[in-house]
Amino acid sequence: MSFMDLSKYPAEPFKIKSVEPVKMISKSEREAAAKEAGYNTFNLKSEDVYIDLLTDSGTNAMSDKQWAGMMMGDEAYAGSKNWIFLEETCKEIFGFKHIVPTHQGRGAENLLSTIAIKPGQYVAGNMYFTTTRYHQEKNGGIFVDIIRDEAHDASTDVPFKGDICLEKLQKLIDEKGAENIAYVCLAVTVNLAGGQPVSMKNMREVYEICQKHGVKVFFDATRCVENAYFIKEQEEGYQDKTIKEIVHEMFSYSDGATMSGKKDGIVNIGGFLALNDDELFGHAKEFVVVYEGMPSYGGMTGRDMEAFAIGLRESLQFEYIEHRVKQVRYLGDRLREAGVPIVEPTGGHAVFLDARKFCPHLDQEQFPAQSLAAFLYIDSGVRSMERGIVSAGRDNKTGENHKPKLETVRLTIPRRVYTYRHMDVVADSVIGLFNNKEEIRPLKFVYEPPQLRFFTAKFDFAD
Ligand SMILES: *Cc1c(COP(=O)(O)O)cnc(C)c1O
Repeated sequence: MSFMDLSKYPAEPFKIKSVEPVKMISKSEREAAAKEAGYNTFNLKSEDVYIDLLTDSGTNAMSDKQWAGMMMGDEAYAGSKNWIFLEETCKEIFGFKHIVPTHQGRGAENLLSTIAIKPGQYVAGNMYFTTTRYHQEKNGGIFVDIIRDEAHDASTDVPFKGDICLEKLQKLIDEKGAENIAYVCLAVTVNLAGGQPVSMKNMREVYEICQKHGVKVFFDATRCVENAYFIKEQEEGYQDKTIKEIVHEMFSYSDGATMSGKKDGIVNIGGFLALNDDELFGHAKEFVVVYEGMPSYGGMTGRDMEAFAIGLRESLQFEYIEHRVKQVRYLGDRLREAGVPIVEPTGGHAVFLDARKFCPHLDQEQFPAQSLAAFLYIDSGVRSMERGIVSAGRDNKTGENHKPKLETVRLTIPRRVYTYRHMDVVADSVIGLFNNKEEIRPLKFVYEPPQLRFFTAKFDFAD
């Protein structure tokens, strides 16, 4: 027995050895910066941001061991020892036969979509990720969402909300024919559903159904360690397994995976495509030299690959991932306790504000989440991101806005970067805005790019 309880919100499992000062500019300066950025947080200068929760992608803090690894870069054009170490690490952790390095996750998505989709084939997924769906559609794939219904409802608090609906999967196979399905893309966890995990049982069952019909299953492994933590915490039979054992079992129910190292790899850049099939691997190697680089670096430097391999190994440490997930949960708990509508339950990497409920005075086509993100920045210098109608883009055929059920603002927590006190600042600002929500105003487009519009679009007030 001890007087302290670290189980609910564990303190940071690290000491801070190097710091980067941050400062908050004045409110009038923030108003000017927001206007200049066209009320799009992607267009803000990072210098003008106090707490940056835009993304957890590539914003991770590396460990002393990773920085030491950066000095061990073997910058050979071919056969770098860092590549050999990264390849070994990926094979050991994930259990795949072949690894193809890429500069980041979307590089791997490009390769996989190019080699595994024939125009007109369906690609089924548990919801979608922006760049993933872009590459699938660019290669002629027709995306079909087969996630369980609850995932589209922000307020239903059920475990493993990222699961695939087996009936939807079976129906798709029966109606379209297995030969017309390129593959099932299973994301662990599901970013756009709120960082919701997938259960081991679901992965096993999806793989069984797909194997029976000869349909391949590829995982989006980007957030697989967070997913493994939820399995250990909440799925029966996994409490005594290590994170490493759980990750290994997860990937045994797939034919390959794409991964962005910028998330659970705890690095700033990197990615890979993993495959078991020899023939697909051959094709992937043909394309990697065109798009990324030699099959022994794929757009990464030797030092990047060393840091990535070390980061992957560190990510499997229980203390690391427990703190990671529970720090995010702490922010979610503080907001929920104040009555702020968030996507339930809190996921692995972010708290998602439910902008429909937050801004009941705004119609979805007035971009409530986009506007909420802008006002949050103006209030406290906290940078978040819209994940709603703007991110969903327009239908390729009709030109109409996709109108996703989830209209959210994502507060994404970088790994090992901020403390619980930073989370309090964010919570206080969000709660203050919620209590004065009528100040959040409708927006209209002043510049709308044709693809992945959320990155560079500009807006102005519509009232
Ligand atoms: C970030 C992300 C990607 C894309 O990875 P990049 O490294 O940014 O190209 C793909 N899938 C998911 C789930 C992601 O979160």
